[in-house]
Amino acid sequence: MNKIWIGTNWKMTKSTEEGLTYIENLIPISEQLSSRIELFVIPSFTSLIPLQDSLAQTRIHLGAQNMHWENEGAYTGEISPKMLQEIGIDIVELGHSERRQYYNENDQDINKKVHAALNSGFSPLVCIGENIEQKNFAISRETLAMQLKTCLKGISKDQAEKVLVAYEPVWAIGEKGVPADPAYVSYIHHFIREVLEEMFEESSFNIPLLFGGSVNQSNFLDYIHSPHVNGLFIGRAAWTTQSFENILTVLNEQITHNYL
Ligand code: PEP
Repeated sequence: MNKIWIGTNWKMTKSTEEGLTYIENLIPISEQLSSRIELFVIPSFTSLIPLQDSLAQTRIHLGAQNMHWENEGAYTGEISPKMLQEIGIDIVELGHSERRQYYNENDQDINKKVHAALNSGFSPLVCIGENIEQKNFAISRETLAMQLKTCLKGISKDQAEKVLVAYEPVWAIGEKGVPADPAYVSYIHHFIREVLEEMFEESSFNIPLLFGGSVNQSNFLDYIHSPHVNGLFIGRAAWTTQSFENILTVLNEQITHNYL
């Protein structure tokens, strides 16, 4: 796959003012990057409108962290696809492990959201990953296959080409996360690719597979050089423009020198 997807989910960390400052710094950096890099940021809902204004003439894709599957209804506290369409986002992140863990989202819910996202013109960024118990019981592959087959059930081959998948092992995410071995990541990505191929045949080759979970300035090159990894989904290590810039600059150099 020619494109390299790099993005960050800010979770619940930045005010709109902080987000705007971050974006002001990121825009000139993005302009220096190879066209092979697809860059995205996923802020909180409250920042989407002002950030969309700032990003309108740029190559940085804007994403939302979640979405309901219905366009309207009695769902207090939720945001609908229609509301996100009004803003004009590109990507909607679905099934992050924190949504699954704290808000009981399951694969069937995520499947409804994936359909709603595709019908609304967004690229769903579907997060999957096994937890530590599943890894220790050696059922990572079974867990991931079940997540993929449920979350992406009923998606046509054409629609599949708009989907992004992020493999984020739950045990690798966040402050207490243990960084995954790049060889393990590569092995799992290969497996995910096989499941996607079984589901969507040749269309599956257009689905980028991103890796996320404690990616940082010291390890990102190991992951991006791992076979079957098409991008990185970064949390903490991309929350300052300085550290994100460091990662992006090195990636860009690697592309310029044909190392990637
Ligand atoms: C995440 O939560 O999706 C994530 C990748 O976070 P971090 O990089 O901080 O582990």
